[in-house]
Amino acid sequence: MRLLLVEDEHDLADGLADGLRREGYAVEVAYDGATALARAGAADVELMILDRDLPALSGDAVCRTLREQGHPVRILMLTAAGTLDDRVAGLDLGADDYLPKPFAYVELLARLRALARRTPHGSGTILECAGIRIDTVRRAAERDGRPLSLTPKEYGVLESLLSAGGGWITADELLDEVWARPDERGRTVVKAAVHTLRRKLGHPDPIESAPGRGYRIGAER
Ligand code: CA
Repeated sequence: MRLLLVEDEHDLADGLADGLRREGYAVEVAYDGATALARAGAADVELMILDRDLPALSGDAVCRTLREQGHPVRILMLTAAGTLDDRVAGLDLGADDYLPKPFAYVELLARLRALARRTPHGSGTILECAGIRIDTVRRAAERDGRPLSLTPKEYGVLESLLSAGGGWITADELLDEVWARPDERGRTVVKAAVHTLRRKLGHPDPIESAPGRGYRIGAER
């Protein structure tokens, strides 16, 4: 699993990187926010440990920018600022988890494992239903053997629907799973992604929707 560690305290960063490599992570290190953003954009980074107080560009700005770009990386924010308000602010920016310094190394590892389980890269399964097939490692989708060119959000919606095994998923749940942050425009962005996903999936439309219940794929009708 590819992990980008963003920390400006070199000793801490290098020590952590060594430890995480021994745990099997493919670790890259960035010592400032601008470098972190460039690396995340260029590489297929799946996990990020992001210090909040960074030179060049703050951790907050890095986090916000990645979320605005729709980058699917799972972000664990690391910071000396550990008050409740700080944690809430970090999560609102789009961080997936938050760990105040000083932290216990074993807790950091446990939280990374939890985040890795949440990312599709970690599970590596093939999901199939209604002629649709997705590979959650490659994040590739096809229908009746025809490859689909999906945006990360469309792919996320499709994966959530297939993972539900025919069960309903509400727009709010999709928002939580795929967008990973509360958003004023919430249901509108979900609706838009489902709309374009449907167009790409083609006929017959496999996505069933119902007011108040949400969306599902593959249930007996
Ligand atoms: Ca720092």
